[in-house]
Amino acid sequence: MSNYWSDIVRDLEPYTPGEQPQGDNITKLNTNENPYGPSPVVLQAIADRLNEDLRRYPPPDAGELRQAIADYYQLSAEQVFVGNGSDEVLAHVFKGLLNHPAQGPLLFPDISYSFYPVFCRLFDIQFDQVPLADDFSVDLDHYRRPNGGIIFANPNAPTGILVPLADIKNLLADNPQSVVVVDEAYIDFGGQSAISLVDRYPNLLVVHTLSKSRSLAGMRIGYALGSSELIAGLDRVKNSFNSYPLSHLQIAAGIAAFVDEDYFRHTRQQVITERQRLTAQLQGLGFEVLPSEANFVFASHGQHTAASIAAYLRQKNIVIRHFKKPRIDQFLRITVGTEDQNNLLLDALKSHLNV
Ligand code: PMP
Repeated sequence: MSNYWSDIVRDLEPYTPGEQPQGDNITKLNTNENPYGPSPVVLQAIADRLNEDLRRYPPPDAGELRQAIADYYQLSAEQVFVGNGSDEVLAHVFKGLLNHPAQGPLLFPDISYSFYPVFCRLFDIQFDQVPLADDFSVDLDHYRRPNGGIIFANPNAPTGILVPLADIKNLLADNPQSVVVVDEAYIDFGGQSAISLVDRYPNLLVVHTLSKSRSLAGMRIGYALGSSELIAGLDRVKNSFNSYPLSHLQIAAGIAAFVDEDYFRHTRQQVITERQRLTAQLQGLGFEVLPSEANFVFASHGQHTAASIAAYLRQKNIVIRHFKKPRIDQFLRITVGTEDQNNLLLDALKSHLNV
């Protein structure tokens, strides 16, 4: 605490990201990074930008990147917003599109990406957290009430459970008065994206990241797709905050990330295949594993506490994520690794559980 802090800083409860331990002997399955590196096309594009031009500011609107993303999804550049990781995109979304107290509170699931309530406190947004259904799914019927906006992750984090696209369509049809944000950080690992609905619903915003399926968490690139009306609102916030959120290197990497489709499909398929194998193996060890369409699984063991399993794995230099929160404190979130990494995890679990 410091007297120099404003009241709002004193009351903040900042988001705590998963640890980023250094060292080669750590099996890091705690922050849903991709176990495969970025495409060589991306690495080359970054290398090609390492030149004198870095003395210049980057283009403030990152227009070429917006156009590349628009072309990839067959939208127009006016329907694309880009930012420094989807966390920054989300910050602008909360600030600019989800604060309508006269209409009602912002609604999001009680168990979801834990940055959402942090943004609400930072921007002084009233919110209601809607409980997940008994099976841990997001039931969009529970969001049909006066609201100042709706946001949910699909697939949800940390559960990995997907809401079907048809349910999202129904919600949009019944909720034209406020913005509906679908945070699709993990959609490429098996779900059907709501991007196909963007042209039809001016209040729909879909948020994506290059951190997961495109292996670029370290580059910090996120984007949002929606009507030009919503995107113009986000640009107003961005241009009141940081004129140049993406560097020359980020722009080059982002454009290149959409070029190498073969690499993208191949690495994504490997993650999906390993997710299925990991799920089956964990079930064989006595875990309940929620049905995941993401690059992680959420699992709990009837006979062993989540905390004791996480502590044991940490001793073995295997890092996974345990959230000490009501209802999910007996679950572990495990990022799907390479075959070798998953085998290391499974072997450690077998010795700990004596099976
Ligand atoms: N949304 C969800 C649901 C996430 O899990 C994450 C990753 N922590 C993000 C957004 C943010 O990802 P990034 O800032 O790396 O794009």
